[in-house]
Amino acid sequence: MIVFKEKALLTEHLSVFWSQKKTLGFVPTMGALHNGHLSLIEKSYTHNDYTIISIFVNPTQFNNSEDLEKYPRTLDSDVEKITSKFKNCIIFAPSVDDIYEGKTNSTHYDYDGIENEMEGKHRPGHFDGVGTIVKKLFEIVKPNNAYFGEKDFQQLQIVKKLVQKNNLSVSIIGCDIYREENGLAMSSRNERLSVLSRNHAALIYKILKQTKIMFGTKSASEITKWVEKELKKDSLITLEYFEIADIETLKGCLRKSKQKKYRAFIAVFIDNIRLIDNISLN
Ligand code: AMP
Repeated sequence: MIVFKEKALLTEHLSVFWSQKKTLGFVPTMGALHNGHLSLIEKSYTHNDYTIISIFVNPTQFNNSEDLEKYPRTLDSDVEKITSKFKNCIIFAPSVDDIYEGKTNSTHYDYDGIENEMEGKHRPGHFDGVGTIVKKLFEIVKPNNAYFGEKDFQQLQIVKKLVQKNNLSVSIIGCDIYREENGLAMSSRNERLSVLSRNHAALIYKILKQTKIMFGTKSASEITKWVEKELKKDSLITLEYFEIADIETLKGCLRKSKQKKYRAFIAVFIDNIRLIDNISLN
């Protein structure tokens, strides 16, 4: 296991891999690793000759400075978690200066409008920050395959667009959502929840599962009203948005079409902590 903290040292090391024509799998993360992250690493580890994991809390994708400040940074235990499960992985944990070279700005990207839906609406600039860091990391690492979780489904679609629009030669692989026993989608932010809030947060997945059942017979707007009503009953949860959307355009579903696939997306606040989740509906 090698941990690189500077891109120059990493690229010097990777030049050997690139010349060997072996496959390089890449798992970008912001650290505070949990089993969801480890499931992505496992997938990369199984399908590639080498796996590199980046751990970098990217400032340009945070639209809320308190969220950035409070984001957990646990490099030593992250390295420990990776080492105990996987041999010979490479970890890249650069500083903000090394990546942004004094200009911590994001580049604006056009993702055919999917950046303006849901997370894009509620977190202005977020996907410009995501595109900026993912493109920078792809240019440094030059992976063959990169692994992203469906937990952040809109991000996964954004990254696919980024690759397509910039002709990047990397395959993007989406990975299933990994959940806690109570159904709560694993997230680094869950660490900040109290035990009570964690129990309440289990309601999010319960509701999503119910929307999947209802989608067979009810319209998207009927389901949305039901979700809003159910969540109002919980004293700790505040709904930010619930949306049933086409998985390609991420536009809200007004009338169901048999040719399209849909997912239900949700964002809530509990204890001032923002959690997101989603479920495939067909
Ligand atoms: P993050 O560190 O939160 O930026 O996440 C890094 C990667 O792990 C992203 O591709 C996420 O979508 C993915 N990820 C985060 N949580 C989960 C989860 N519970 N299940 C699967 N993938 C996840």
